[in-house]
Amino acid sequence: MITRKRLLMGKTIQYSNEEITIHWQPEKCIHAGKCVKTLPRVYRPKEKPWLIIENATTEELKAQIKTCPSGALSYSDNN
Ligand code: SF4
Repeated sequence: MITRKRLLMGKTIQYSNEEITIHWQPEKCIHAGKCVKTLPRVYRPKEKPWLIIENATTEELKAQIKTCPSGALSYSDNN
C-alpha cells in the first residue's frame, strides 16, 4: 500500500512513498518548470500539497528528479 508522509524539516519538505523519499528545498527552486512539464500529475504548483508522490512510479519519479536543474529536488531510498 502506498502512503504519503509530508514532513517539515527546516527548509526541506519531504514526501515519501514505500520506496523513496523526495526532498524538496524551495529556496533552491528556480521555477524552471521542468518537473511540472515532465510529470504534471505529480507536480501541481497551483495546488496544495503541490507534490502528489503516488501519481507516478518510483522509477518515473527518480528519472524526473535527476533532471531538476537547480538541485531543489532530490531523493533518498527508504530502508
Ligand atoms: S524542476 Fe526543480 S527547479 Fe524546476 S520547478 Fe521543479 S523543483 Fe524547481
